[in-house]
Amino acid sequence: MPSNRLRSYRKTLAFRLTLWYAGVFAVSSCVAFLLFYTLITSFFRDRTDQELLAQASEFSTVLASRGLEAVKSLALLEAQAGGVKKVFFRLLSSNGQIFSSSNMSYWQDIDIRNAAIKLLVRDRKNVFETITIPNRKDKVRILHIMIGPGVILQIGQSMETDSRFIDAFKNIFMITMVLLIGLAAGVGWFMARRAVSGVEAVTRTAQEISGGTLDKRVPVGTRGDEIDQLATTFNQMLGRIEILITEIKEMSDNIAHDLKSPITRIRGLAEVTLTTGKEIGEYENMAASTVEECDRLLDMINTMLMITKTESGVHRLDEEQVDMARLVRDACELLEPMAEDRGLSLRCETPETSPLVGDPRMIQRILANLIDNAIKYTPSGGRVTVSLSEIDGSEAIVTVQDTGLGIPPEDLPRVFERFFRCDHSRSEPGTGLGLSLARALARAHQGDVTVTSTLGQGSTFTLTLPRHKRT
Ligand code: ADP
Repeated sequence: MPSNRLRSYRKTLAFRLTLWYAGVFAVSSCVAFLLFYTLITSFFRDRTDQELLAQASEFSTVLASRGLEAVKSLALLEAQAGGVKKVFFRLLSSNGQIFSSSNMSYWQDIDIRNAAIKLLVRDRKNVFETITIPNRKDKVRILHIMIGPGVILQIGQSMETDSRFIDAFKNIFMITMVLLIGLAAGVGWFMARRAVSGVEAVTRTAQEISGGTLDKRVPVGTRGDEIDQLATTFNQMLGRIEILITEIKEMSDNIAHDLKSPITRIRGLAEVTLTTGKEIGEYENMAASTVEECDRLLDMINTMLMITKTESGVHRLDEEQVDMARLVRDACELLEPMAEDRGLSLRCETPETSPLVGDPRMIQRILANLIDNAIKYTPSGGRVTVSLSEIDGSEAIVTVQDTGLGIPPEDLPRVFERFFRCDHSRSEPGTGLGLSLARALARAHQGDVTVTSTLGQGSTFTLTLPRHKRT
């Protein structure tokens, strides 16, 4: 494997998790081994000590009952029975003089342990020792014990069988541990890869997106774990970004397309005045028209900004308790003169309703847009009716009904789009932004604006607002 690939592997979370997993496993296995090793060696030592003490007690009984000569013969017999390479016996006086022993040819390296004898004579306590004989693998456990007045018994027993068992145990442990650490690393790698694969999917999608494809989504698993939650949140975030980018695109398309006309008109005005106008009055007219066009342009830009801010949630509502009946009456009063000018009757039905929580200035703007449209698109002699009602005290409903031009069925789904205007209404001034703003503001209140219409007979726009926003 090329070295930089190996280096990048070593940086991965999966690699580090595997290392940790195998490391923790190895350390805990070693601790378990050490505990077990200590337990087993102390068990063997205690067992040997018990055997040595039992033999010493037999010697002490024989000495008491049958005398020193019987003890000497017993030492020879016991050494032969146990095996000369297994046990040895020495009978010593209190000053360490040997007066009898078993066959010591195999044990000649073991001298008289003067320090142990001194300790025994002084403290009258049995002295145990473990001795390693040079150039031999096994160890010897030795007991010094007083078996009668002035008679010390030194018994030694080879610990070879126990050492062999412990060595075998060590070897088996080593082999098993190497295999288990390998297995733990394998399992750790598998588990880490499984956990990290979800994060990698998110990273891959993010990379594809930075390459320009916003429609990609991370596949979400069915386990519902943290990785699935991350994928879901990431996808939600992508959805939101996609909407925002589409809105920005639409907005720039709109700017390019719809703001061009007023600017072209302003330019045309200036050009005509420059080429033809010679009188001061003509310049004044041009200036007045330019101001008017600029006002329309500014109004359009402000409305567009308002719609975008409201839809993206940047615009915060200034909420308070709102008396809907009063708001509807105010809107009707405001637009009454316009209705009169156009020869229309404007009726306002406002029974008292429960107050709702909302932004009064924004609700006023929705109402003004709907009533203004109804008046604009209803020919003289027609009727506009604005009525307020409520459903179960939980929703306020305002309907704005007119007997005007109506909207063709194929245009109905499009009237809330930005800059959309029906062909038959182009004779009236307008920007095609009023209904988009009304709907965006209603939705910011968790309400909506909907429409039903019959061409040539009239339209009904319905504003629905909940009394309280759901959190
Ligand atoms: P504007 O009124 O400035 O053109 P709007 O967004 O308010 O823009 O309305 C979009 C279009 O929907 C209007 O141009 C008109 O064609 C249609 N429309 C809106 N309200 C009515 C209505 N009450 N009757 C008939 N057509 C309407």
